[in-house]
Amino acid sequence: MISRIDLRGDALPEGAALRDLLPRAEFDVEAALEKVRPICEDVRHRGTAALIEYAHRFDGVAIERVRVPAEALQRALAELDPAVRAALEESIRRARIVHREQRRTDVTTKVVPGGTVTERWVPVERVGLYVPGGLAVYPSSVVMNVVPAQEAGVEGVAVTSPPQAEFGGLPHPTILAACALLGVDEVYAAGGAQAIAMFAYGTEECRPVNLVTGPGNIYVAAAKRLLKGRIGIDAEAGPTEIAVLADATADAAHVAADLISQAEHDTLAAAVLVTDSAELAAAVETELKTQVAATKHTERISTALGGQQSAIVLVDGVDEGLKVVDAYGAEHLEIQTADAAAVAARVRNAGAIFVGPYAPVSLGDYCAGSNHVLPTGGCACHSSGLSVQSFLRGIHVVDYSRDALAEVAHHVVTLAEAEDLPAHGAALKARFDWKIPQGK
Ligand code: NAD
Repeated sequence: MISRIDLRGDALPEGAALRDLLPRAEFDVEAALEKVRPICEDVRHRGTAALIEYAHRFDGVAIERVRVPAEALQRALAELDPAVRAALEESIRRARIVHREQRRTDVTTKVVPGGTVTERWVPVERVGLYVPGGLAVYPSSVVMNVVPAQEAGVEGVAVTSPPQAEFGGLPHPTILAACALLGVDEVYAAGGAQAIAMFAYGTEECRPVNLVTGPGNIYVAAAKRLLKGRIGIDAEAGPTEIAVLADATADAAHVAADLISQAEHDTLAAAVLVTDSAELAAAVETELKTQVAATKHTERISTALGGQQSAIVLVDGVDEGLKVVDAYGAEHLEIQTADAAAVAARVRNAGAIFVGPYAPVSLGDYCAGSNHVLPTGGCACHSSGLSVQSFLRGIHVVDYSRDALAEVAHHVVTLAEAEDLPAHGAALKARFDWKIPQGK
């Protein structure tokens, strides 16, 4: 069901050479670009009419408008199962606790007497949040996108999610209810590349946004890549990933359950166990067989676990395991070893780290308070997950007095001349009767 990669014995290669030995999903965003380009152009020119056509073609629904009416949001909230409502409220409450703490304050630095630089944090004016709705529905993604945007102080928050045939062409009712719970009343029934184009170009129903965030399938990722620049994006999220670094102290049943939990997202989802214990590896393989057979989405999970993106990687020890998980840069990384906190502290590359036996990824998916929109495909070596910071821009405010400028003017002029940009120097000379003060 799941393949093995045996890296025991020889010294591990470094960097890219090690990465090449590790499993990874094919997620060729470049190839999808040509497919989404005409869709985006069509939405740009024909707006709502194009969105209605794509809803019919890709989602199998006949809709007359894309904006979800306010009554539908309120109805979805009124009809929401009380237990789901309570769970969503707790998820929102915990996410707010964490994200509120992330807010940065403006910092003013006195560089010299009379010269200051302030970094002022300003929220993006208007954001569009994509909530996937193809294979599974993700009300939790509404929480994970909306809460940081709201805590950052974003005024215009719009949500889009694919229309569902089962629900009369509206997004899934739990997604609508989550929006209503969070006080978001601008919601659209659009999915895939066309939804990203709607946010980027605007339509008769939807004003363009400045930034688009949220995970999605390859068409969503390709549209984000195509339209980046016109809009800001958080990341091109790929299929979800879990890596577990475990030793002989780990419980095989827990490890197997956690690998399965992420494989459940998608046939392309990746589940990787890195261990120095051959006994644990064998026990996890046995557990996978029984647990996968007993779960609901057996076929999807079997495909994900059997795919080239999933594997059990055998290493000589926890130190080697750390090298492997750093080279892999997992979206979600669990540490199930002795002294897990100390091992976790040594990890350099991961979207989020889950420490010890009682912090499964599923907790982070819903109710840890952390964000679940995280870098995939190895991007954890250069990017972070969604946070309040994703929705803020830091503006430098430069304030210098005449004396403070006079003190440094000759250096500015020298550097301008070194770059053959004499007009830059002239902008200073003009302020000092065309004579450059020589500073102190
Ligand atoms: P989705 O909403 O991303 O995509 C569905 C849309 O794709 C449809 O509405 C349709 O418009 C479009 N589409 C389908 N077939 C098409 C085609 N042939 N051509 C053009 N467009 C087409 O939902 P999904 O497909 O279920 O994908 C969701 C992804 O998001 C999964 O890979 C999942 O793992 C990932 N995810 C990631 C996170 C995270 O935090 N990283 C969280 C939730 C989900």
